Amino acid sequence: MRKIFLFFGPPGSGKGTQSEAIGEYFHLPVISTGELLRHEEKSGTALGKKIAQLIDKGELVSDELIHKIIVERIKRADTAKGFILDGYPRDAEQLQDLLKMLSEHDLILPVEIRVSDKEVINRLGGRRVCDCGATYHIIYNPPKVAGRCNLCGKELYIRPDDKPEIIKDRLAGYKKSAEPLLAYAKKHHDLISVDGERLISEITEDLIEKLSKYA
Ligand SMILES: [Zn+2]
Repeated sequence: MRKIFLFFGPPGSGKGTQSEAIGEYFHLPVISTGELLRHEEKSGTALGKKIAQLIDKGELVSDELIHKIIVERIKRADTAKGFILDGYPRDAEQLQDLLKMLSEHDLILPVEIRVSDKEVINRLGGRRVCDCGATYHIIYNPPKVAGRCNLCGKELYIRPDDKPEIIKDRLAGYKKSAEPLLAYAKKHHDLISVDGERLISEITEDLIEKLSKYA
């Protein structure tokens, strides 16, 4: 039986970091749609070219395309024991689509990382970035000189995505996407849920303990 962990949590919850840590611990590949799309784009396949065009035009990649890419990805040998999905499914339709791709022998386990709205706003609203790729936080990881990058000295800025109005939109979008996963989890088994307002290492340990029952 394959174990399929669906990681979800609000923006800034550290979901990506945790899914990587858990993937490594249990030797399961982490499949994220963002990464799959970038990979396909780079590989220059016909599908990749189509995706590049869509992204260039600022259009959303359709569910149909995402479906094709995921179907191919989960056929690969490294998914024989299971896999982790990060950032997918995003809504009820994608969840239904995923269920159709899987067999009745697959065990689907939604895993929630809980972080309050207030904390999400703190975390994302305090983030400052530099063009060189460095990331800071005004409280948790401040630069040595306020507003300047430690590495290159350039002026730090707030990513457009991290502006307060946009954070609120992202939170609302997240809640909508989490609903079907919560409903699925509650219907089929206990929800696997961890408190995301702790040290990264503590969250990882908690997840390992809770997921060991299944993995
Ligand atoms: Zn810099």
